[in-house]
Amino acid sequence: MSVSPSGIAPPQRREVPLLDLKVQYQGFKAELLPIFERVCESQAFILGAETTALEAAVADYCGAAQGIGVSSGTDALLLALMALDIGAGDEVITSPYTFFATGGTIARTGARPVYLDIEPDTFNLSPVAVQRFIDEQCSVGPAGLTHRATGGRVRALMPVHLYGQCADMTPLLAIARRYDLKLIEDAAQAIGSEYQGVRAGSMGDVGCFSFFPSKNLGAFGDAGLCTVNDPQLAERLRVLRVHGGKPKYYHSLIGGNFRIDELQSAVLNVKLRHLDSWTVGRQRNAARYCELFADSGLGGIVTLPRVGSGNRHIYNQFVVRVPDRDRLKQYLAEHGVGSEIYYPLPLHLQPCFAYLGGKVGDCPESERAANETLALPVYAELAHDQLEYVVAVIRAFYG
Ligand SMILES: *Cc1c(COP(=O)(O)O)cnc(C)c1O
Repeated sequence: MSVSPSGIAPPQRREVPLLDLKVQYQGFKAELLPIFERVCESQAFILGAETTALEAAVADYCGAAQGIGVSSGTDALLLALMALDIGAGDEVITSPYTFFATGGTIARTGARPVYLDIEPDTFNLSPVAVQRFIDEQCSVGPAGLTHRATGGRVRALMPVHLYGQCADMTPLLAIARRYDLKLIEDAAQAIGSEYQGVRAGSMGDVGCFSFFPSKNLGAFGDAGLCTVNDPQLAERLRVLRVHGGKPKYYHSLIGGNFRIDELQSAVLNVKLRHLDSWTVGRQRNAARYCELFADSGLGGIVTLPRVGSGNRHIYNQFVVRVPDRDRLKQYLAEHGVGSEIYYPLPLHLQPCFAYLGGKVGDCPESERAANETLALPVYAELAHDQLEYVVAVIRAFYG
């Protein structure tokens, strides 16, 4: 029997993957297959009835006026930036502690990402850091906000609702209003998440969702969606989604192919009906972890997620902070427990962004989080004894 670093024997080995979608699939398969067949029989695969229905249903679910189905979460962000006319000479403030697409799409428009630090308890963009950047490094003039060091025009904020909890939107929206900045919500991990009772994707100018299979509402491949309240902006998103052509083959804008597939829309229409019950399962598992960690005496060692008051956390990930993280991750793997590091290297330190001049120490909370955080399995179908097992293995590691 293997002995843990603490000397405590781990429990009898079991398998607890970070995510297993096979059980979930069995729960909606019977509903889905006839719809799939109907789409196949129709041979209408692009921007049809399933997509129109999905756009209305997701917009309604998020409390937004309109939805525009797109090819991925990444393309939702890129399309939002393009629709807001953000490009060369512009700068967009965002978090460096996020999936690559957040910063990557900003750079792909030709704009410059400005990475500012996160709040340590929620891992989301710090409004205090944003205000300090504006006060200390920007000039306010008739042309808007200018970043003095680069001469770039600061055009937008792109907060990320990381792990399924909304960023602190009241102060961020106030900053956006005060300096006439656009606000794009990277809600890729946050469908159904609420900030003070308001849903992710309905607060900013555009909300960007991902239906990547591992997200809480996952397609059978890549897909995404933009939510928007302003009808003119919605129209721009729709036109840019089809290469900027309107009418077809006449282009006053340069867009791209950002379309969602009809088969993916069909999957998502079925799965959306189950989303709330899956979210309840994730929240139940998160609450159980908190009890189990408290009972295990690991309270001083494992830092649990903190949910801001008035927030609905949907736990796309259940992320703890731990000492000796990399060895714990390996120990969990040796005992059949899947875990993951989201994300090991903040964007301001990525080699591809070296041209921005970022260096270690620029965003200390993001750098600390990158070294300390670990995502544990939290998907809805996990059984109570699987959660007990995960906590027992962690207990055996630390003693
Ligand atoms: C998943 C994700 C994206 C990108 O979504 P894709 O559908 O994979 O392109 C963007 N931002 C964040 C925060 C994400 O988690």
